[in-house]
Amino acid sequence: MGLLELASGNSIWRGIDYFNKKKVISWEKVTQDSYSGIVAGSSGEPYAVYIDKQHPRKSTCNCAFANERRVICKHMLAVLFTAEPNVAEDFLK
Ligand SMILES: [Zn+2]
Repeated sequence: MGLLELASGNSIWRGIDYFNKKKVISWEKVTQDSYSGIVAGSSGEPYAVYIDKQHPRKSTCNCAFANERRVICKHMLAVLFTAEPNVAEDFLK
């Protein structure tokens, strides 16, 4: 399963919102299937995000929601949508 399939609908919509509001401060491609990024937090400190499309449960974010819980958070999705806008477009169709 991919990141979108593992995420809750709420996380996806909030990820879309973060993408639209350009909350991803920076990102880079790590490997063919993974990205790292920095996402602005709602209160001050930015979050460090890593996403692995091939192994979504290896994705990490240091926010309170996802930290060490192996869940997909809105910050991960914001990085995914920013790096691959077509994924967001496909979802919104
Ligand atoms: Zn997060």
